[in-house]
Amino acid sequence: MNDVNAVAGQLTKLRERLEQKELELGLLAEQSDAERTLAISFINRLTQACRGHDRELDNKLARLRQRFEDQVPLGQLAEEIQAIERLLQHHAVALEESLRVTRDTLKEGGRHLTGTKDIPDKIRKEVREFLNQDQPYAIAEHQRQVARLLELYQQSMRALLLRPINGKAVAVEPPQPACDEQLRQRLCDELQRLITELDFTGKTGDDLAEIRHQLLTGVDFSQLPELCLRLVELIIDGARQERRESHLFLSSLNDSLNAVHLRITESLDQGRDLHEQHHRHGNEIHARLDDISLQLDSQSNLQQLKQSIRVNLQHLQALLLERNELMQREAHLIESLGAMENKLNLMREETSEYKKRMAQQKHKLLLDSLTQVFNRAAFDERVELEYKRWLRYQTPLCLAIVDIDHFKSINDRFGHLAGDKALKVIARAMSRTLRETDFIARYGGEEFVVLLPGADADNMLAPLDKLRSVVKGIPFRFKDDKVEITISIGTSLFREGDTPTEVFERADRALYDAKNGGRDRIIVV
Ligand code: GH3
Ligand code: MG
Ligand code: MG
Repeated sequence: MNDVNAVAGQLTKLRERLEQKELELGLLAEQSDAERTLAISFINRLTQACRGHDRELDNKLARLRQRFEDQVPLGQLAEEIQAIERLLQHHAVALEESLRVTRDTLKEGGRHLTGTKDIPDKIRKEVREFLNQDQPYAIAEHQRQVARLLELYQQSMRALLLRPINGKAVAVEPPQPACDEQLRQRLCDELQRLITELDFTGKTGDDLAEIRHQLLTGVDFSQLPELCLRLVELIIDGARQERRESHLFLSSLNDSLNAVHLRITESLDQGRDLHEQHHRHGNEIHARLDDISLQLDSQSNLQQLKQSIRVNLQHLQALLLERNELMQREAHLIESLGAMENKLNLMREETSEYKKRMAQQKHKLLLDSLTQVFNRAAFDERVELEYKRWLRYQTPLCLAIVDIDHFKSINDRFGHLAGDKALKVIARAMSRTLRETDFIARYGGEEFVVLLPGADADNMLAPLDKLRSVVKGIPFRFKDDKVEITISIGTSLFREGDTPTEVFERADRALYDAKNGGRDRIIVV
């Protein structure tokens, strides 16, 4: 009995321990749920903090969160957590480095500001205080310091712009960028140069000349867009007009050719028909004559002979009448062929006239309409050609840029029409001075470019110096003032490995030196 009681007592104890364990397990599960929720919310916060820094980190955090939500045992997540840790470490190092650079930049910026002349003492003191404060730690502190330094810079700028000049405080407008004026001038020059390259006649040509006049006498920046628009309209009008004229000519030529073609086909048919009829007549006449001679040989009966010859003669008479008619038709055909030949001759004349006009047009496209020397398009073509020759045959080639000295003052003193006249005279004089194998083009406003094929280091200077002295010697007279106009020249030979652009740029730099060196001279590089 005692044994039974003992066993029952042990069983009760065991049940109690089991219940205790179940309770503990339940508590553990609850705790683990709470921990998982905590981990998920930590990952969420970490994800928010790191978002946008690194796509790989964002993806890894999102995946980890999902794994927690799927209740994957912690032991299986070790590798992923380590990878995230490595990435975070890497970012922490990079962040520290970038904050260090920011701190250095802030210090450098502050020091630079204290060293700036003319900033008020008050601001200088504030900058020193800024430099002496503790180094920032958090990112937000760095941002605050950047904002503060910017504020100090702004104050300094304002103070510098308002600083007294000659004892008086003046409000200095922020300076207009100097390039605005340069840009305006460049646009005006470039546009007016473009117009001189166009060659439209009539109203379009007059309107273009008017715009060129405006550009030369000075146009505000604000007026330029409208002027450009007008220019484009005029160019389109001019091109349309030219196209209309060509179209008219070509369609009338086409009509005439169609008419001639039709007439030729008709004439050919008529001619063939006439030829066949002639042939048939010939055969019939021969047959009648053969018959008559046969009758004469074989017919013994005179009456019958007469009768048969009469019949044959009547036939022959009818044939002769028909033949007359044929001859008349033939004469008519010859007449109309003659008329056609005249028409064809006329057409040939018209087309050759048109061809001549096209060739002239092409030539004009390469000429500068103001000075009548070649234009920039022609230069581009020619320099390519001479460059290829130089590459192939290695004969020397010299390029020179010629710029008229103080040309603006001619316009300013005597008006742009006088300037135009001077340009024409100078261009003609230079063009005449050069040899036929040399080449000169107006490159821009008062700038020309010269190519001297065959000129080497020993003999390139002579023709260029001749240009210089010829221009200098032109006896200009404007408004009763005797004016001497000079030119400056920058020049260079093509050298091993050069391209035309390189030579041009070298010559341009030499021209710049010639201007700086006092003008009216040649600089060779
Ligand atoms: P520098 O000696 O430095 O070359 O002085 P510059 O006055 O010749 O040079 P700048 O480039 O200052 O001025 C060139 C002037 O030439 C300005 C422009 O109005 C004028 N110009 C350009 N093309 C023409 C044109 O076709 N006709 C007239 N009359 N003037 C022109
Ligand atoms: Mg000049
Ligand atoms: Mg110039």
